[in-house]
Amino acid sequence: MKSGEVIIVGSGFSGLATAALLAKDDFHVTVVEKNEQPGGRASVWKEGGFTFDMGPSWYLMPDVFERYFAEFGKKPQDLMELVRLDPSYRVFFGHNDSLDISADLENNLTLLNSIEDNGAEKMRKYLDSAKHQYEVAMNEFIYKDYKHLTDFFNRKLVMEGAKLHIFDKLDHYAQRFFENPRIRKILEYNIVFLGGTPYNTPALYALMSHVDFNLGVWYPMGGIGKLVEAFYKLGESYGVEYIFNEEVKKIEVEGKIAKKVVTNSSTYEGDVFIVNADYAYAEMQLLEKKNQTYPEKYWKGKAIAPSALLFFLGLNGKINNLRHHNLYFHPQWEKHFETIFKTFVWPKEPSYYVSCPSKTDSSVAPKDSENIFILVPVAPGLEDNEKVREKYYVQILEHLEGLIDENISDRVVVKRTFAHKDFADRYNAYKGTALGFAHTLRQTAIFRPRHKSKKVKNLYYTGHYTHPGIGVPMVVISSQILSKVIGRDHGK
Ligand SMILES: Cc1cc2nc3c(=O)[nH]c(=O)nc-3n(C[C@H](O)[C@H](O)[C@H](O)COP(=O)(O)OP(=O)(O)OC[C@H]3O[C@@H](n4cnc5c(N)ncnc54)[C@H](O)[C@@H]3O)c2cc1C
Repeated sequence: MKSGEVIIVGSGFSGLATAALLAKDDFHVTVVEKNEQPGGRASVWKEGGFTFDMGPSWYLMPDVFERYFAEFGKKPQDLMELVRLDPSYRVFFGHNDSLDISADLENNLTLLNSIEDNGAEKMRKYLDSAKHQYEVAMNEFIYKDYKHLTDFFNRKLVMEGAKLHIFDKLDHYAQRFFENPRIRKILEYNIVFLGGTPYNTPALYALMSHVDFNLGVWYPMGGIGKLVEAFYKLGESYGVEYIFNEEVKKIEVEGKIAKKVVTNSSTYEGDVFIVNADYAYAEMQLLEKKNQTYPEKYWKGKAIAPSALLFFLGLNGKINNLRHHNLYFHPQWEKHFETIFKTFVWPKEPSYYVSCPSKTDSSVAPKDSENIFILVPVAPGLEDNEKVREKYYVQILEHLEGLIDENISDRVVVKRTFAHKDFADRYNAYKGTALGFAHTLRQTAIFRPRHKSKKVKNLYYTGHYTHPGIGVPMVVISSQILSKVIGRDHGK
């Protein structure tokens, strides 16, 4: 017999992951989702025989998923077919100018030696440090709930802080190892995944190079949608109930206790309420002012993570010169970063990312076709309209065709664009952000919005705004932290 009624607002990865954990702990869990499918930012769009992952496409930090599913006595491989990509990805610097990062470290070290004197030796040192940062971060800081400043600024942090390079910036740190700007870009690009720039993100996040080079880039056959399915089915097997196509409009609070959520067509009463929907939106739109821990003023002063301009394209015929993951780095990429974090305008000459999962997985495109997803990171809160999207569509396709010497635009049989307005409409994203809440030093760990409301006793938050932050592995960890907090608060 289940005891304790939990209502979760939103079925993103973090909502799903929290639901399964609490259901396993004998709560009765209902997940209420505004959209027609689970997964949130990781929705799946099918059209004309193509299957597009609409959000995440990199399966990184496999250890995090192993640790999560182990709580249920399972391995990720029990729930989906996982393959390690090789090459991990291709980086383009210009026309006929690219290099592949291999799944084999030795190959990468040889490559680095060809680009910079002692490149391999420098990289070994960089990766030794990144591995140390990763292990300390995982063991000491990431899987942890922060309530008080002293939880963060403890003896361990003071002792390890210098070695972890928490107070240095990533770009500055990478320069201490490498002169070659191309190598530095390869060490720094993945910071965009965390909603930051190498110039404003603590060098602690050099740990992402351990993730990239040592732990590898993986792919669930069928797409990231298969990972969503794994979480969804796991919850279902423990009795989680899912309600789709219902948008929560209000969280009703009496005294300091949340009583129910009101949707466009129903109400759900509960003992515990968890918001997986975007934190900023939920605080400002679903709660009365007196119940908001973080009112509008708070959000206005914060660094909101980038939005993205996305193109989902189904192509007739194959493309030879793309790999599964492809990155284009503009020679002056710092100008693009400036537009995202300082000037808040559309970029003139953007760097961008192209995913082509049909290189690995024939199930995501019809025969002799290619499935392409293009992502241009852009500032949140920009004026987004069809004209701007079309301008970038033409610009980026022309540029990509130049990089790979192949025609794309004449072969498009399926096309969809997605940007700020869609993020706001589909996910209730504040300022149309794709990624949520940036990872600056002042928005790390204790400084991220808390898992537990300060104003409403039985109201909690999970997902990319909370600690540890952005990205599928991080929001899964957020669910593990939260389920422990709730278990403690409710005597489980
Ligand atoms: C384009 C893109 C590419 C990315 N690439 C990667 C990648 O390659 N690898 C990686 O690890 N991460 C990537 N990320 C980041 C990652 O996808 C997110 O950090 C993560 O999925 C966020 O999960 P979440 O559960 O916190 O939130 P969400 O996925 O946003 O889930 C919140 C849910 O709440 C629902 N909701 C909102 N309001 C309401 C309401 N009022 N009532 C009911 N439901 C509501 C929403 O519909 C949504 O389903 C990417 C993100 C984007 C957008």
